[in-house]
Formats: sequence, structure tokens, C-alpha cells
Amino acid sequence: MQCPICKKPVKLTDPEAPFCGERCRTIDLGNWAMEKYVISTPAPQQPDRDAKQDEE
Ligand SMILES: [Zn+2]
Repeated sequence: MQCPICKKPVKLTDPEAPFCGERCRTIDLGNWAMEKYVISTPAPQQPDRDAKQDEE
């Protein structure tokens, strides 16, 4: 099988499978957590700080 992150070949017996290592596993977990965060957060319209600087 292949690592879903870096596409490196991974052995089924690898303790980190389906990832090639802890690093890619962490990356995948981060991606998943970030997607979940984006979906559950309705992106509030916050005032632009740069616009505030223009007023001064
Ligand atoms: Zn990998």
C-alpha cells in the first residue's frame, strides 16, 4: 500500500500503516482536524485590521 500523504510504499505490517511514519500520520491528522474546524466554524466576518490602519 502507499502512504496517503507522500505516496511512499508502506508495508502492511508497518506499525504506522497506512502511513509511512509518524510524521505523515500527524500531517493527515492535522489535515483532518483542520477540515473539521473549518466546517464547524461559520467563518465570522471580522473587521479587517488593515482597514483600521488606513483610518489613522
Ligand atoms: Zn508518508
